[in-house]
Amino acid sequence: KVVKVIETKRPPNARKFVMPEKCPVCGAKIIRPEGEAVSRCPNLSCPAKLRESLLHFAGRRAMNIEGLGVKLVDQLLEKKMVHDYASLYEMKLEELVELDRFGQKSAENLLREIENSKQRPLDQQIFALGVRYTGEHVAAILAEHYSNIDDIANAKVEELQAIPGIGERIATSIGEFFAVPQNRKLVERLKEHNLFRPKVKKQKLVSSTLSGKTFVITGTLEKFSRDEAKEEIEKRGGKVTSSVSKSTDYLVCGESPGSKLDNAKKFGVPVLDETEFVKILS
Ligand SMILES: [Zn+2]
Repeated sequence: KVVKVIETKRPPNARKFVMPEKCPVCGAKIIRPEGEAVSRCPNLSCPAKLRESLLHFAGRRAMNIEGLGVKLVDQLLEKKMVHDYASLYEMKLEELVELDRFGQKSAENLLREIENSKQRPLDQQIFALGVRYTGEHVAAILAEHYSNIDDIANAKVEELQAIPGIGERIATSIGEFFAVPQNRKLVERLKEHNLFRPKVKKQKLVSSTLSGKTFVITGTLEKFSRDEAKEEIEKRGGKVTSSVSKSTDYLVCGESPGSKLDNAKKFGVPVLDETEFVKILS
């Protein structure tokens, strides 16, 4: 315990304590905002804050990954199975079944939840990143204004600040966030996993080739999100409903379809795979 510093005992060349310029944990350049006493590491994937970041990312109002709670996150970190958000999308069934109290069924459910999270609206995905001061409301403003993540990442602070609802503090924080190379790289990797799909602007009817036809979509499509597929159908005059009935004209069926496929077979509804779906659109 330091009781008192005896000035005279201090060697003449002793230096004052200097804040480290790099995060001692991950090596990222540290940010110390003016007027704030605490320095902080701006790297989202810094091990020192990863646990908290992952829990935010998986949260109900963010990527909404059911089952990815405290206990599981702790286990995944301990087993070094995740080191950032993107690695969640790279987990394998074989690794997951090895976890404590984690059977085949829970592993499959978790992977399905993680896969489904890619369908969250852009604003929720922006919120999930956990950019400082970017809450749900700000995320919604950004998604509305830019409609794709690259434009947000490349926006100048002054430009961001000019958007109604975004003040200097938020704009600076977003600028700082995307100035960190580790964060940029993470966003790129998430994009490779099909996150941050650009929002498709509402479009007018391009043709009426599907006029009067009713579609149901099931499973994961490779080239379209659910919303995009729906939009393509509606642009051609078709309608998309949520459940298969006798009056359904087509079931569009992607990877790992649900019970809708069984219903389609039961009602004799024609099933289109993605290739056939693309053909019917052209
Ligand atoms: Zn760090």
